[in-house]
Amino acid sequence: MLNNPRSHGLWEKTAPAAPATVALAGDTRADVVIVGGGFTGISAALHLAETGRRVVVLEGAEIGFGGAGRNVGLINAGMWVTPDDLPGELGEVHGERLLDMLGNAPKLVMELIERHGIACELERNGTLHCAVGEAGLKEITDRASQWRRRGAPVTLLDAAETAKRVGTGAYAGSLLDMRAGTLQPLAYVRGLAKAALAAGATIHTGSRVTGYTRSGSEWTVRTDAGSVKASWVIVSTDAYSTGPWEGVRQEQVHLPYFNLATHPLPADILSTILPEREGVWDTKEILSSFRLDQVGRLVFGSVGALRNTGRAVHVAWARRALKRLFPALGPVEFECEWFGKIGMTDNALPRFHRFAENVVGFSGYNGRGIAPGTVFGHTLAQLVLGDLDEEDLPLPLTDPKVPAFRPVKELYYEAGAQIAHFASDRF
Ligand SMILES: Cc1cc2nc3c(=O)[nH]c(=O)nc-3n(C[C@H](O)[C@H](O)[C@H](O)COP(=O)(O)OP(=O)(O)OC[C@H]3O[C@@H](n4cnc5c(N)ncnc54)[C@H](O)[C@@H]3O)c2cc1C
Repeated sequence: MLNNPRSHGLWEKTAPAAPATVALAGDTRADVVIVGGGFTGISAALHLAETGRRVVVLEGAEIGFGGAGRNVGLINAGMWVTPDDLPGELGEVHGERLLDMLGNAPKLVMELIERHGIACELERNGTLHCAVGEAGLKEITDRASQWRRRGAPVTLLDAAETAKRVGTGAYAGSLLDMRAGTLQPLAYVRGLAKAALAAGATIHTGSRVTGYTRSGSEWTVRTDAGSVKASWVIVSTDAYSTGPWEGVRQEQVHLPYFNLATHPLPADILSTILPEREGVWDTKEILSSFRLDQVGRLVFGSVGALRNTGRAVHVAWARRALKRLFPALGPVEFECEWFGKIGMTDNALPRFHRFAENVVGFSGYNGRGIAPGTVFGHTLAQLVLGDLDEEDLPLPLTDPKVPAFRPVKELYYEAGAQIAHFASDRF
């Protein structure tokens, strides 16, 4: 996107074309202005347009330009924070509400895909959270028992069953979560956008918001080429925020994450790696993830930015790590490589902000935005429609707060991942 092959990589190469959109030119009016064309903004637009509300989405670059078009494509249920710890972090009411909402969020994603016929390589066979060593096994065992007590369809698999499903004996076990799955993320958000347009929403791309002012009961939201007046503004700019809601980005520590896609694997090897097409990530602090795409490319990722010395270091590490994990692959060439910024908050939980009267947004999904972004977009639509009050939301209202030493932490993540990958052949 924007002539950068390392921004959206494989997903841009294989997604159906984006719907035709143009930049905002001149002044217009709507019921709701939505800023940001990722999962959150487009889901809100779809749900509002379906009720007949006049919706205008202003996206600074292209649909899916932010995290939505760059990610691994794991449709996760829940957050990093374990189910038992969540009520402690957020209080009993919000904690249980968030758990319930996020546990069911992949279902909403899959229903929308089905209802709108979105071609996005959806796989419904769950995800495997793979345990590295004894510590990893303890972590997933605790997680599994906490989810099972809440009735979630999760299963703990031993090392032998994990080896059979993943195609490597590298793991001590895994947690199979049948609520989850994988998809082609850029294809998904473009498909949601087509559905929103069909429902009557207007989407302007190349329309970066530069300011907003209030007069009477209305907001005027401005780009360089025009403005939209509306009584509600939804801010869904998350880790890629620019302009008036830069504070959303400032609240997060950016964690760089890259993905490399192989060429389609030969049939004999493909039948041994993830034959049931689950998505995988592991329990390491500098984690790795992998999954197959529809035609059998292996998409392998980890923490790091593919720029400066990082590119050579991470690509060389990925070749060594894949050799350890799947020796039968032989020497690996990558067809595509790309990376993006994951927005991490200080307690690894998302935020709900009211920036001014009727100016609201969710952000900070900590690398888990497909299902939460989709469901929170729906929640924002319900808030605007008056179907929900702020007290009913899954998160308490907070003000954006800049974490201490943010730039230092970002440098540490980027440099630390390079140091960790430099001489290692650990997957
Ligand atoms: C490399 C990577 C891997 C990931 N892997 C996964 C995964 O496997 N599973 C998962 O669930 N999540 C994953 N995530 C996280 C997920 O992609 C994000 O949480 C999600 O994209 C957030 O959705 P969003 O719609 O809120 O924001 P985004 O998708 O980031 O969209 C925000 C949009 O706002 C626009 N914008 C910003 N400022 C302005 C402005 N002033 N005016 C107009 N537009 C503006 C941006 O251009 C952008 O398109 C990953 C993220 C990355 C980067």
